[in-house]
Amino acid sequence: MAERVRKLNEEPVKQDGEYVLYWAQRNRRVDSNHALLYAAALANERGLPVLTYEGLTCTYPYASDRIHTFMLQAVPGTARRLKAHGVGYVFDLSRSKADAGDALHRLAARAAAVVTDDYPLSAVPRRFDVACYAVDSSCIVPMNTFPKREYAAYTIRPKIHRALPDHFHAAEPLKVKRKWSGGISVEVTEKNIPELVASCEIDHSVQPVIGAQGGRVEAERRLERFLEDRLRRYASERNEPSNHATSGMSPYLHFGQMSSLEIALAARAYASDEFLEELIVRRELAFNFVRSVDNYETLEALPNWARATLKAHDDDPRSPCYTRERMESAATYDPLWNATQKELLLRGIIHGYYRMYWGKKIIEWSPTHQEALSTMIYLNDRYALDGRDPNGYTNILWCFGLHDRPWFNRPIFGQIRYMSLEGMKRKTDTVAYIQEIDQL
Ligand SMILES: Cc1cc2nc3c(=O)[nH]c(=O)nc-3n(C[C@H](O)[C@H](O)[C@H](O)COP(=O)(O)OP(=O)(O)OC[C@H]3O[C@@H](n4cnc5c(N)ncnc54)[C@H](O)[C@@H]3O)c2cc1C
Repeated sequence: MAERVRKLNEEPVKQDGEYVLYWAQRNRRVDSNHALLYAAALANERGLPVLTYEGLTCTYPYASDRIHTFMLQAVPGTARRLKAHGVGYVFDLSRSKADAGDALHRLAARAAAVVTDDYPLSAVPRRFDVACYAVDSSCIVPMNTFPKREYAAYTIRPKIHRALPDHFHAAEPLKVKRKWSGGISVEVTEKNIPELVASCEIDHSVQPVIGAQGGRVEAERRLERFLEDRLRRYASERNEPSNHATSGMSPYLHFGQMSSLEIALAARAYASDEFLEELIVRRELAFNFVRSVDNYETLEALPNWARATLKAHDDDPRSPCYTRERMESAATYDPLWNATQKELLLRGIIHGYYRMYWGKKIIEWSPTHQEALSTMIYLNDRYALDGRDPNGYTNILWCFGLHDRPWFNRPIFGQIRYMSLEGMKRKTDTVAYIQEIDQL
């Protein structure tokens, strides 16, 4: 556990604190949560109960009905699970942008210590005057193991494989010695979510995804389906979108409703090296990247060769050249690309293989590389259920050469890897995919 924990300030644990507060920012789950376990250990040593605080504001970028609904759907289940473990729970929904809310600080003022998630995109709480810890429960091999920026998958892979045996075991079960005696009243129920979402000052034009359901129970159901029906086909069929051989777990991972450790342990029994490569090596490389640089949303974060080749080709003519609005409304000349964009609009996801194609074409059709980057981040973060994630920023920059190597020189792309419609037609059943999306 120690290698997962960072102390964020110099304050001591308060002797007269009433509880240990766990602030669930990213890993919004009860099971397999090292931060919650650390809070429980601190509390158990002092004979205190644990209180979990989870907030949902209207101020996060691209706050919408889609994202709010998915997050709220998890809340009743979290409340039930925490109650069963004897842990207190405050779920704090702010309805307007002006409602900054001071519930977290009020609760922290009465706590012996605050524990939160160590997550590269999260706010680091500096203002608490009690001991404050960040605990990494996002990665299987703790992020602290790799203090420097890794150049590519081939540099981090052997290090991960070396460290994995020390960390590839289930998190211990949550046990709190002193149960929470205060009540737990959470206003979110399965039924009132649409009403709550409608009352929030967020973007109501991005609708919830029909058929997508947030929360732990659904995450477990999806994992089960993946293990039973898809995982054995993953190695050979994962790059054939219409065969549905991938897990669909990324939104649940993004909101921390299930841990990558739980998924990897469940999948290990099926010996799928290809799946574990994506889930552990690629995902943890993305966390390493976002944690190591300040400018993970900019072209400045690219390796020198990629920046140089893009600069040399930024003025190349684009034909066609589309506006962001045209791309957003899936109205390009390319039926496959339009289908990927429609999948994003309607399902809140694009199949992983076509997602690369989606990104590469945005580079080809945008007036500048900078505009291509902004458009990709905007579309991905606005519509994807797994958007605003280390994987998102890393893979968007992958489209511009990050963690990749130089290829042949060509217009617009320079030496950045190119993807063509002909290539997609050769390698995948584009007709079946386009038909499937048309029927949505
Ligand atoms: C332009 C672009 C944007 C992307 N944006 C996001 C995003 O916002 N959020 C996001 O989670 N992923 C993003 N990805 C990475 C990848 O496409 C998704 O993680 C994957 O398709 C999710 O589907 P799945 O859960 O069925 O994946 P599976 O194939 O079942 O893989 C299991 C898990 O492994 C991880 N994984 C898979 N592929 C990658 C990868 N290339 N890099 C890092 N981790 C990976 C994910 O956590 C995924 O859920 C993006 C890729 C591209 C090319």
